[in-house]
Amino acid sequence: MFNIIRIGFIKQFLIILTCLSFQTAVAQSFVITPDTIMVNGKVVTADNDDPEAVTIAEAIAIRDGKIIAVGSNAEIRNMAVQGTEVIDVNSRTVIPGLIDTHTHLYETSLGFPWAADVDPQLLNILLVAKSEDEAVSLAEAAIKARAREVGPGKWIKVRMNPSNIAHAVFGSRITRRVLDEWAPNNKVMIRTRASVVTSSNGINEFEEYFGREIPDVYWVNGAEGKELGWSRQYVDFPRSAAIDLIMENQMERYSEVYKSVLQVNAQNGITTHGTHAQSKNGYTVALMLDRKGEMPIRWAWSLGWAHIFTDTPEAFYENYHDEAGYGSDFLWNVGMNPVSMDGGAIAMCTTINARQDVKERERCTADATEVGILRIRALKAAIKNGLNIAGHHIAGDKALDYYQDAIEQSGLSLEKIRSLNLQSDHCHQVRPDQVERAARLGQTFSCDASEEVATVIARDYGEEYLGRYAPYATMLKNGIKPMISEFGSQQSVRNSPFEYGYIFLTRRSLDGKLAMGVPEEAIPDRMTMLLMMTRWASPSIYRGDVLGSIEPGKYADITVLDNDVIDAPLEELPYIKPIMTMVQGKIVFEDPQLRGNTLRFNTETAIWEKDIAQEFQNSSLWRW
Ligand SMILES: [Zn+2]
Repeated sequence: MFNIIRIGFIKQFLIILTCLSFQTAVAQSFVITPDTIMVNGKVVTADNDDPEAVTIAEAIAIRDGKIIAVGSNAEIRNMAVQGTEVIDVNSRTVIPGLIDTHTHLYETSLGFPWAADVDPQLLNILLVAKSEDEAVSLAEAAIKARAREVGPGKWIKVRMNPSNIAHAVFGSRITRRVLDEWAPNNKVMIRTRASVVTSSNGINEFEEYFGREIPDVYWVNGAEGKELGWSRQYVDFPRSAAIDLIMENQMERYSEVYKSVLQVNAQNGITTHGTHAQSKNGYTVALMLDRKGEMPIRWAWSLGWAHIFTDTPEAFYENYHDEAGYGSDFLWNVGMNPVSMDGGAIAMCTTINARQDVKERERCTADATEVGILRIRALKAAIKNGLNIAGHHIAGDKALDYYQDAIEQSGLSLEKIRSLNLQSDHCHQVRPDQVERAARLGQTFSCDASEEVATVIARDYGEEYLGRYAPYATMLKNGIKPMISEFGSQQSVRNSPFEYGYIFLTRRSLDGKLAMGVPEEAIPDRMTMLLMMTRWASPSIYRGDVLGSIEPGKYADITVLDNDVIDAPLEELPYIKPIMTMVQGKIVFEDPQLRGNTLRFNTETAIWEKDIAQEFQNSSLWRW
């Protein structure tokens, strides 16, 4: 159905240069010549919002980083002049560069093993406990061993799973004082999803760096929680510890790590990533790379550190400009990000009646007596001041209610609200009435496929609620153009950027074992999936005019695939790999199989293993 090759049309720019003289009026017509052409492709242009009307072409002409023509091989070859570089893609599928609207590369760059070469303090020690007793004894052994290894004054960062066991001991058997005892000369932080405990030295360092006491709202039960070193703000602490505290004096080296991870994403066909920066130095490294012209891919960023360790968010948002859309070609602002409305996965905030222990671990921002209220205040202040909200984490349906209430209570006109490009990211529980409300508010959705989330929904809330997990069909029916996010490489290297697309098409996990939502809410076809990862993502990052499709006038952000994303057998989809990625006319990744060139960060030779404390070397309990 989509396979119609329309030969004989050509879209290109003509410049008519008119020269006037006293004697005669002569009009001359010049065709701009391409510096690069790409031929012999199945070019899926994504040039139409209607998946059935998308043009399939054969070739592309590029000049100065922009697409100047799209058409048949003969038409585009005819445009070539001496010196035009010809890239013959040999019948492969060519798509617009992929746009991942929600990822955390500034942060997860430090989770890649080779980052620990920059500073061993970045190492996240992962502990997996089977019982509460084991959680405490493992943590003690690991922290003491690590303290001996890294020496005094250094950070020790531990992540404990599963979170229900960690939750049971954090703030009771693992507290600030206990951490002080285990490693009196170190800064220690242990965390799980939606909970973190920090030692006294760690807390002191935060307060010194930020120049203020961490407000009471940050701690569980205020001063009492501070005494225990216990907070539910499980992302503010580790993010700012890793990037703002540990990396503060080695930003050049950090920027190299960040760059390598941007390159890994380029290798996955991604040409733009969008996300908040929840750490000012996380943003600073991007500035450093962009100033040097070294960003391999683009970053549409939202400001997410304004609130960290303050209790006066309004003061900031009321004095901030609406910068959405402004910046360079590779780094631009897309709005504000008060970061999260709930905890996600086991800490998502829902209206569902569930077991008491399930309800107790829900982190409902507006219900909380802690920093959650600050988040709502920040969100309202930002919207009231006409600032876009981008990359905002909203997992559960109750969190989405809070968000949509805040939008409607902002006092802005519906017209102004609709112009803001408001988004809601994650979509782990979205009710049909909320989809309708979103359509009215001009709000869109950016959803990710998580086995953890699907498991939590089915096990703890009931299988009937899987129907609300990223309800794409309902969104499409309401005229919303939703997006897929987090399909790039965060802390591991993915097989393919289409893993999540495959999951949302089939509504099964990659191994087929787990129901990931319901078939009724599946993405209807692969062309729609591709639009969600390209064209439909571009307006929400304020670049609908120059990114998201292969059309004359747009930037030449182009990905060449090793298989046909539209027509290959469906089971091959989650293994389709990019073999060339071009950003603004520049090849940022090229696999040897295309032309024998190699432009890549070599993940095969990068270091994936680290020395770990001797006593844990043969244990599966310590791993990356
Ligand atoms: Zn996120």
